[in-house]
Amino acid sequence: MCADCQRLHELYTRQRGQLGLLQFLDGCIETGLPREKIEAFMNADPYGSGSVKDQITADMSTELLGAMGIRVQQTAQDVKRLRQQGTWQGMDEKPEE
Ligand SMILES: [Zn+2]
Repeated sequence: MCADCQRLHELYTRQRGQLGLLQFLDGCIETGLPREKIEAFMNADPYGSGSVKDQITADMSTELLGAMGIRVQQTAQDVKRLRQQGTWQGMDEKPEE
């Protein structure tokens, strides 16, 4: 993980669970880092357990379901699986790597 990724990761840890995907993206763009760098960070999946994007989506859906009285813990892995099945089409513009 390079210094840029470190910076984005800090931003992510600080804001985790408080912001949606688009708001987090805005925060990333505000760091002034190039878009490709941000995209790469969001889509990186070094442990194979889901990308940062998947993790944010998981947090968001856990929160949404919670608001509807459904208590489940969505994980990044769940989101990754659904995404790979094509259930979450539209969330991703293009597959990376
Ligand atoms: Zn990096």
